[in-house]
Amino acid sequence: MWLSNFRNGLRKGLLNRDKNFIRRWPVDPKIVFFGPPNVFQEEISQRFAIDLGIPIINMDLILQNVVEQAGKTEEFSHSFFLRVRDMILAGDGDALVQEKVHTKLLRLSAQANNGFVLTNFPNDKAEAETLEAYKGGINAFVHISLPDDILVDIEENKMTCQDCGRNYYTETIHNHEYGIHIDPFGPSKDGTCHDCGSASITDGSDPIRFEKELENYKANKEELLSFYDHYGLLVDFEVKRGYDDYDKLKKKIQYGIKH
Ligand SMILES: [Zn+2]
Repeated sequence: MWLSNFRNGLRKGLLNRDKNFIRRWPVDPKIVFFGPPNVFQEEISQRFAIDLGIPIINMDLILQNVVEQAGKTEEFSHSFFLRVRDMILAGDGDALVQEKVHTKLLRLSAQANNGFVLTNFPNDKAEAETLEAYKGGINAFVHISLPDDILVDIEENKMTCQDCGRNYYTETIHNHEYGIHIDPFGPSKDGTCHDCGSASITDGSDPIRFEKELENYKANKEELLSFYDHYGLLVDFEVKRGYDDYDKLKKKIQYGIKH
C-alpha cells in the first residue's frame, strides 16, 4: 500500500514538473526576431515558429500586400486600406505610427490571433511603443548577432537556390579570436536544393543589398535594444555556431520569455 502511494506521489511529482516545464512558454506567445543580414535569422525563426506551432508574420509582406490589394479586392475595399496604401507609397512612416496602422493590420490578420513570430517590425522606438500597446505587448525581443567581419565572410560564400531562395554556405567559417565556428551547409550530394530539388544553385552574394541591410540594422539597433532591455524583454544571443546554435538559442528564449 505505502509503495503504491509512494508511486502515485512520484508520478504526481513528475507530472507537476512536466507542467512547470510546459508553463515556461506563455500562451499565444508574441516574439520578435531582429538581427543583421547573414545571422541565419530566416532559418532560425522558421524552425522556431514550427516548434511552437505559431505563424511567422513578416510586416514588410503585410504592408506590400495592402499596396497590391487596396481597392482591388473586396477584402481590401474599405477606405482604411486605401489610406494606408497612400501612406506607404508616400513613405510616410510617421503617419503609419500615429494611426497605429501596423497593429491594426495585425488585429485584422486572422493568423496572428494566437501568437506569432514577427519579423521586419518594429524598426524604431516609436513603432516598438505601438507594439507594446497591442494585446499586452510582446513576450520576447530576440536579437541574433555576429561580428561584422563574420557577416562579411558569410556573404562571400553564400549560394542561393534560384527557384526557392534557400541559402547555402560552402565554406567553414572559423575565427579563434571570437570563438566562432560555423560549419558549411551545402546542397545535396548531387548538387540539388534540399527544399525544392532544383539544380539551379548559384552565387548568392549581393554586396549592395548586404550593405544596405547592415546599415538599416545598425541605424535601429541601439534604440531597439535599449528599449527592450528596459522592459526586460531582450534576449540577446550571438550565434557562434550559426544555425547549429538553434537549440541553445531556443532554451535561452524559453528561460527569458515574459509571461
Ligand atoms: Zn530550392
